[in-house]
Amino acid sequence: MEKNYGPLNPGKRMLMGPGPSDMHPRVYQALITPLVGHLDPYFIQVMDETKELLRYVFQTRNEFTLPVSGTGSAGMETCVCNLIEPGDTVLICVGGYFGDRMAQMVERHGGRLVRLENEWGRPFTADQVNKALKENAAKVVGIVHAETSTGVLQPLEDIGRVVHGHDALFLVDTVASLGGVSIPVDEWGIDACYTGSQKCLSCPPGLAPITLNDRAVERIVNRKTPVGSWYLDMSMVKNYWGGSRVYHHTAPVTMIYALREALVLMHEEGLENGFARHALNYRAFRAGIDAMGLKFFVEEAYRAPMINPVLAPDGIDEAKARAHLLKGYGIEVGGGLGALRGKAWRVGLMGQSSQKDHVLLFLGALEEALLAQGFRTAGSGTAAAAAVYAG
Ligand SMILES: *Cc1c(COP(=O)(O)O)cnc(C)c1O
Repeated sequence: MEKNYGPLNPGKRMLMGPGPSDMHPRVYQALITPLVGHLDPYFIQVMDETKELLRYVFQTRNEFTLPVSGTGSAGMETCVCNLIEPGDTVLICVGGYFGDRMAQMVERHGGRLVRLENEWGRPFTADQVNKALKENAAKVVGIVHAETSTGVLQPLEDIGRVVHGHDALFLVDTVASLGGVSIPVDEWGIDACYTGSQKCLSCPPGLAPITLNDRAVERIVNRKTPVGSWYLDMSMVKNYWGGSRVYHHTAPVTMIYALREALVLMHEEGLENGFARHALNYRAFRAGIDAMGLKFFVEEAYRAPMINPVLAPDGIDEAKARAHLLKGYGIEVGGGLGALRGKAWRVGLMGQSSQKDHVLLFLGALEEALLAQGFRTAGSGTAAAAAVYAG
């Protein structure tokens, strides 16, 4: 018998998890733009515009700015494997799931790993990093800006100064944060930084924009050993993205079309307006959660506006409520990772998903999902959020 596979049709979704986030119709449109070759003059122009737009979003003048082929983790691995050589001491700040991933990569690429560990939900201080660097002369210090597993937004400026004071390179994961809050890469002294296409940039998953300053590039140029990964070796990839344009691997042309369009949208909105939108929707969301009597995992002062774990009340089955949101409303939120597994919902307000309609529908739907399990919220989340929007 012939099997009939039928058309793809996932149904309507509101993507409010830790990524991917919703895409703008113009990004969907970009995905059906006619394909050209990866060395076509038209595509070279698209690459140049993409680099220029990435510099705008990273707030940098770094010549070395390009999207790595692969998801956010490929951006992480690119930075790790290019900046460290076997035997190098590397300090990684581990305050959640993604900091731990970076630490694992350092070990796999032969680095002498020093783990600076923090309890989940707490940011690192410059003093902590300073102390760790006094004890260990690290060549690179890696940290996550918005730790998606915990919802902490890590202050970076003071730590950057400490790292440079010890003559180390400052490597920052901005996968969840870039585009949602201001990250002036040059001003904050970030030497190497990577992100992912599917979070606040609102593209499909599959690209990892990175930016490296001259200090970081110099480190790569002066390596004594070749980079352990052929595919992610930036000393070769950079020749395709600039200069000689020699073939390295076939660029994911269609994905780069989509990224360019998403970045054009951000340019049209204006970075500052985008940050203000993320901040407003977070404030409305927070007012709603507070009014419902629910609790955030992270202390107010350190919350990332684009990703927030909300603790499930006692007696509530968080997975069941999540399934209820998906089935009843097409709303996707994340479950807890690691220490928060089974205990929290991770609610994303990233990029195109940071919208008033998303916030209001989510709060109303959560109220109903909780009621379905016999839990009555302390007050109306939607009324409190609406009051924020009304000013
Ligand atoms: C999502 C995420 C990653 C990993 O990105 P993938 O696209 O899943 O490979 C890394 N760091 C942070 C902070 C993230 O949120």
